[in-house]
Amino acid sequence: MADHKLSTDWSLEATSKRRAKYYAASQSKFVPFADPIVFKKGHGQYLWDNEGNKYTDLLGMNVCISVGHSHPRVVAAAMEQAQELTHCTTMFYHPMPAQLAEELSATMPKGHEWVVHFTNSGAEAVDLAMAMARTYTGNLDLLALRTAYHGPTSAAQSLTGISSWRHPGMPGNVAFVAEPNQYRGVFGPGTQPYLDEIDRTISSATSGRIAGMFVESVQGYGGIIEMPPGYMSGAAQRVRAAGGLYVADEVQSGFGRTGDQFWAFEADDVVPDIVVMAKGLGNGFPIGAVVARREIAQPMAEKFMFHTYGANPTSCAAARAVLAVIRDEGLQENAKIVGAALLDGLRDLQQRHSVIGDVRGSGLMLAIEMVKDRSTKEPDPDVTAAVFESCRTQRLILSKSGPFQSVLRMVPPLCLSIDDVSAVVSGLDRAFSEIS
Ligand code: PMP
Repeated sequence: MADHKLSTDWSLEATSKRRAKYYAASQSKFVPFADPIVFKKGHGQYLWDNEGNKYTDLLGMNVCISVGHSHPRVVAAAMEQAQELTHCTTMFYHPMPAQLAEELSATMPKGHEWVVHFTNSGAEAVDLAMAMARTYTGNLDLLALRTAYHGPTSAAQSLTGISSWRHPGMPGNVAFVAEPNQYRGVFGPGTQPYLDEIDRTISSATSGRIAGMFVESVQGYGGIIEMPPGYMSGAAQRVRAAGGLYVADEVQSGFGRTGDQFWAFEADDVVPDIVVMAKGLGNGFPIGAVVARREIAQPMAEKFMFHTYGANPTSCAAARAVLAVIRDEGLQENAKIVGAALLDGLRDLQQRHSVIGDVRGSGLMLAIEMVKDRSTKEPDPDVTAAVFESCRTQRLILSKSGPFQSVLRMVPPLCLSIDDVSAVVSGLDRAFSEIS
């Protein structure tokens, strides 16, 4: 075996050079910290760089790591499958994706018949859900929220409501409605004005008949924007009245992350027509899925539709292990308990650091938003960037998010422990103290 080991140069210098020379700008440009990091190893909620420094991963590798880095049960399940048969497309039968489809369906609201179409990523699932909604309804227009993020493909970008994520020439037929941001939304706090805006938008910016509306049950890159009570169910009602489907994007918020629910849409008792998921499902193995009510997925079969890697048994084995680990290790409950303790710690920081305008979120989907002045709420991206850099010194990995890059977003692996909380809060405290 040793003879066949890939020879890999782990130095930062060599990797920097290769990225600069061989990566397209579109892939190499996005580097969060001023100085890059090479990560070599991960375990649970921790990461180690190539020099052996240990970090707490509050970002979960962009929310992909749900149950902990390189979780032994997930790795073993994937290895076992890869060694036996790495890939098997859906035109041949394989039990691994079939059983995962059954297990995913079981997590959905009862009383409906749910079916699954596997993809390789979140954007691909979003893309498919768009086609499904348009095919089922026969309508073209879609609604999405401002500050939404749904992915990098052309179709998913067309639903994304942050201009810095949208390239020119993306397809249209998407009307945007104000996100019900309870801290700085255009209509202030409350639910009703944002629901009224859906009706106004349908009657002004669409043909009046729509294919559907996409809503992240908690906006992720938008800066952890939770939907206020009654919003998701009210939106679904209005969308259905105009002939459309309600699509929940659970790519970031699903799998127990928000603590009280397995799916964040359950907070509002809404039953979506389509649910889109990815990231945490594979704990790092690439997989996405569209879960829809049977009758809604049906008309897509009238034309050929085939994702070459969709339902890849290696990723499906990993995903089955993820669902089992979430259950067996009580990770949704852990997210609820540890998230509540972390939120308390963040609120305490807000008392002591005047640049923190807002602290929000639930479970292990939390954020702090920086402002120049608490009364004007003017976003402060410079302070956010400075605190972010200091966090690196404190060996905390997190993310700058939101349309103004003024939010620090925390979406750690769901195994973050109660013992991590005080170290995280004191690290953040030092990061804020350093910049003031
Ligand atoms: N939806 C949401 C809410 C996301 O956060 C993302 C990715 N960050 C996507 C869709 C797209 O997923 P992917 O990057 O796997 O295509």
